[in-house]
Amino acid sequence: MDSGVKNEITVAGIAASQGIAYGQIFVYLQSDVEVPGYQVEPEKRIDEVARFDRALVVTRQQISKIKNEVEKNIGPEEAGIFDAHLMVLEDEALIGETIREFEATGSNIETCFHKISSRYVQAFSEIDDEYLRERAGDLRDVAQRVLQNLLGQAENALSRLADQRIVVAGEITPSESATLDRSAALALVMDSGSKTSHAVIVARSMKIPAVVGMRNLTQRVTNGDWAIVDGYDGVVILNPSESTLFRYGQIQERKKSFEARLLESNRQPAVTLDGHRVTLMANIEKAEEVVKAKAFAADGIGLYRTEFLFLNSARFPTEQEQFVAYKSVAEAMAPLPVIIRTLDLGGDKLMAGRSDLFPKETNPFMGFRAIRFCLENQDIFKEQLRAILMASVHGKVKLMYPMISGSEELARANVILAECRADLRARGVPFDEALEIGIMIEIPSAATTADLLAKDCSFFSIGTNDLIQYLLAIDRVNDRIAHLYEPTHPAVLRTLRHVVDEAHRCNLPVSVCGEMAGDPVYAPLLLGLGVDSLSLSPAWLPSVKYIVRNMTMADARALAAEAMTLTSPKEIYARCDAFFRSRVHME
Ligand code: PEP
Ligand code: MG
Repeated sequence: MDSGVKNEITVAGIAASQGIAYGQIFVYLQSDVEVPGYQVEPEKRIDEVARFDRALVVTRQQISKIKNEVEKNIGPEEAGIFDAHLMVLEDEALIGETIREFEATGSNIETCFHKISSRYVQAFSEIDDEYLRERAGDLRDVAQRVLQNLLGQAENALSRLADQRIVVAGEITPSESATLDRSAALALVMDSGSKTSHAVIVARSMKIPAVVGMRNLTQRVTNGDWAIVDGYDGVVILNPSESTLFRYGQIQERKKSFEARLLESNRQPAVTLDGHRVTLMANIEKAEEVVKAKAFAADGIGLYRTEFLFLNSARFPTEQEQFVAYKSVAEAMAPLPVIIRTLDLGGDKLMAGRSDLFPKETNPFMGFRAIRFCLENQDIFKEQLRAILMASVHGKVKLMYPMISGSEELARANVILAECRADLRARGVPFDEALEIGIMIEIPSAATTADLLAKDCSFFSIGTNDLIQYLLAIDRVNDRIAHLYEPTHPAVLRTLRHVVDEAHRCNLPVSVCGEMAGDPVYAPLLLGLGVDSLSLSPAWLPSVKYIVRNMTMADARALAAEAMTLTSPKEIYARCDAFFRSRVHME
C-alpha cells in the first residue's frame, strides 16, 4: 500500500451500519452514472473504434464464461438467457449506429454507445409485447457490461468483486444491492443514502460497516485506494497512517471478542432479568436466508420481503415459482410462524426494464407503490396470493399487506384474497383456512385509524422505516435531510404508543419490523412502549437478545414512560443510549 506517500484524510458522513473495515476501495460505476464525455482527435479515431471492438470481444468472452458456469452449476435452461445477451453483442443496428454516431460527432465511444444503447433500452421497454419488453433488461445488462469494459472496470462489478473490497458508490439501488457480492464486500460507502436506504439494510444484515451521505467521495477516490471505514462514527479515513491503523486494530479486536460473547449468549432464551420472554423474529428477503434466521435462533420470520423475488428481472416469477420459494421458507421454519408480506414494489424498489408498469414519478415514495400497485394489477396480485395460500399448508404461514392506508383499502385487498380462496377451494387445492391476515402500519393514516383496521385483521407490524419518513416528511433515501430522520422524535413515540394501545384494546399483537427493531439501542424503548415482538435482520438477533437478557421489562417501561415526557429527540436518544451502555460492557 502507498499510505506512506499520500496524506491521511478523514471524510465525515452519516454512520449507517456499525463496524470497522480496512481495505482497498472499489468505486462502483452505476448504470445511470454520467459517462465521461470528450472529443477524440481525428488521428486517434481508428484506435477508438478498435477499443470499442476489443470491449465487445471481452464482453462476449465474459458472458460466455458466465453462461458455461451457469450451465454447469444450475442447468441449460437457465444458461439459455445468456444467449439473448450474446445476441445483443451481435446486433448490427446497435453496433452500426454507435459507430455512425462516433463518426458524425467525434465524441468518445463510451458516450456514443451509451446514447444509442439507452435509446434502444427505452424503445424496447415501451413496446406492448412482453417478450420484447424483457429484451430491454437484457440490453441494459449487456450495455452496462460493455461500458464497464470500456471504462476499465469489468472485473469489479458489484455482483462479482475481484477481491475483498470497500464498495464506494454514488448510490446503490435496492435491485443492485440485492446482487451484491456478499462474500467480498468489506463495507459500503455511498455519496447519497440514509440509514434506512435499502443498501444499508443489506449492509446491516451482513454486519459490515456502512457510511452514507458522503456527498462526492466517489470523485475523490480511485480504485485501489486504501481506507478505513468507521461505521460507528460515520467516517472514512483515506490512506490511514500506521498509528491510525493501530488504533482501529485495537477497536476491531475488542469488537471481535464482544461478538464472540454475543454468539455465546445467543444460545440462551430471550428472557429479561424479570422473567419476560420476548419474541425475536427475523426479516428476510430471499428464501435462502432462512438458514441464517435458524442459525441465529429466530422465533420465526416476522417479515419476508417478497419483492426481492421480482427485482432484477424483467419477468414476473410464475405462481409456481413463488409457491416453491414460499413453501421452502414455511417448511424450513415450521412449526414457527412465517409472515409473508405481499409485494412492496415501487418507491425505490423498481423492476428492471418495467418502466411500463412503473412510470417515472416525481415523488415515488408517495406514489404508485405496494398495495396500490397490487390493487391495480390484480392478476399479478392474485398469483402471489394464491402462491402464499398454497404454501400455507406447509408450515405456519401468515399473510401481511404493506402500505395499507385505511380500512377501505384493507377491505379491497381482502375481497381479492377471498376470491383467491374461493378459486382454490373450487379446484380442491388445499390451503390453511385459518390463515391469519395482518397489515403493516407504516402510513400515518393507518396509525391514526388503527382501531378501525384492527377490526379486519389479526396482527399489526409497524414498519418504522416508512412510518418515520411519512410522519416527519423526511425522504428516507435523501442524504441532505438524513440528519432530520429521528426515530426518537416525540411524534414517532406517540404514534407507536397509540398503535400499541389500540391494537391491545382489540387483543391484537403488535410487532415492529423496521430497522429500529434491530438496533439494540432502540429495542428496550420499543418493548417498553408495549410492542409484543421485534423482527430484525438475523445477524442482529444476538445483539438484541443480549440487551433483552441484560435488562428488566420494568426498567424498559420506565425508560419509555420517561421518554414520553421529553420533547427533544436528541435527549430521548441520549436516554436510550445511556440505558444501553449501562447494561452492555464491551470490555
Ligand atoms: C418499513 O417500512 O419499516 C419496513 C419494514 O418495510 P421496508 O423497509 O421494506 O419498506
Ligand atoms: Mg416499508
